[in-house]
Amino acid sequence: MTEASTPSTPANTQAQSDALRARADALETALARFREEDLALDLTRGKPSAAQLDLLNTLDGVLAGNFLCENGSDARNYGPLDGIPEMKRLCASYLGIDPSEVLADGNSSLQLMYQFVLWALRFGPDGQHPWADECRQAKFLCPVPGYDRHFALCEELGIEMIPVPMTNSGPDMDVVERHIEEDPDIRGLWCVPKYSNPTGVTYSDAVVSRIAALGKRAAPTFRVLWDNAYAVHDLTDAPPSLANVMDLAKAAGTADTIICFGSTSKISLAGAGIAFMGATAVNLDAYRDRLSLMTLGPDKVNQLRHVRYFKDMDGIRAHMRKHADILRPKFVCTLEHLDRALGNRAAGTWSVPEGGYFVSFNGLPGTARRIIALAAETGVALTPAGAAFPYGYDPDDAHIRLAPTFATLPELDKAMQIFVTCAELVAVRRQLGAND
Ligand code: PLP
Repeated sequence: MTEASTPSTPANTQAQSDALRARADALETALARFREEDLALDLTRGKPSAAQLDLLNTLDGVLAGNFLCENGSDARNYGPLDGIPEMKRLCASYLGIDPSEVLADGNSSLQLMYQFVLWALRFGPDGQHPWADECRQAKFLCPVPGYDRHFALCEELGIEMIPVPMTNSGPDMDVVERHIEEDPDIRGLWCVPKYSNPTGVTYSDAVVSRIAALGKRAAPTFRVLWDNAYAVHDLTDAPPSLANVMDLAKAAGTADTIICFGSTSKISLAGAGIAFMGATAVNLDAYRDRLSLMTLGPDKVNQLRHVRYFKDMDGIRAHMRKHADILRPKFVCTLEHLDRALGNRAAGTWSVPEGGYFVSFNGLPGTARRIIALAAETGVALTPAGAAFPYGYDPDDAHIRLAPTFATLPELDKAMQIFVTCAELVAVRRQLGAND
């Protein structure tokens, strides 16, 4: 990994240098004081807070002994591999597709993605054309910065990752289309289309249309992994809308390329919710064939209590407004600290998300690792530098993902005081020509 070049100092006048040195001293003193507090704060993972989870305490007991599903089957017994019909209907509404194209299985969408990619390599996404046989080296296009676990999954399964820049409206589609046309080994494109992890970007209609049509340019077993993890995770009352990728792909004749994923992990209970995927019969049948050897079906009791609790998408949206009321002050706190401390100091830029779980910070090139190390020394854990990039490598060493949801507001307030102090100190030291 290369270090970005350090800005030279000759342009600094003596007075400017003195002012910068004084500022660095003040920031160092502030950090020394924080260190005396022996803090252990954590802004690493995008987890819901206890207050959000408390919103769902009445989920426990909602069944009140009534385990009968709408089709008369008993949720306590073995049943359909795909999930119970009422849950599939709810998942279908979430994904904006037909219930016949949905499979509700397990508690983790990441697990569904892992299995999908593993089985596509070994058996083919259609159950007939394994990527491992078709490609010299299967490759995925990875919008960056992106979700670290998508990238870890690819690395583990030996899929080569090609970074694609994210723009304010989604992945740079000129780059995506060029790669697909030039490289016959490309088999996947990762997408987090709403409030993308970590940039908060919602893909524009034009980008979604181009993604939906990629199947016309790509190999027949190319797939878009449409991880719509944050579809209803709005922070405002006027959220951006996301075009329906499956409808667009159906219109373009490319529906088999679209594999949608979602879960209630950040709606109901993280790790104890419902995960689901949506795809055409070609993909779903192949997936189901493998799944049928692996399990006798999902936890239908949990599915039933979720549907009884939320009922429909209106129920989910009403619940998510309560999440937003808890999360909004945390995002406001995070952004206020950034604005106040760094707004006029050219020490970085950051996203102002309308939803999702993250704030994406870009420091000066070559400073992210140093800021993160300094924060760690001062008692604030941040996601490792480069985590949002394939192979953990941020070529600019500039990006830092901030996850403000889990901490309490006082903890977040303190963590952000420390973060902005570290970010400014590293920027000031750079301006002074320091190389650390
Ligand atoms: N997809 C994205 C984009 C996420 O950010 C996360 C969690 O942070 C997940 C998937 C994980 O979802 P699940 O808990 O359903 O596996």
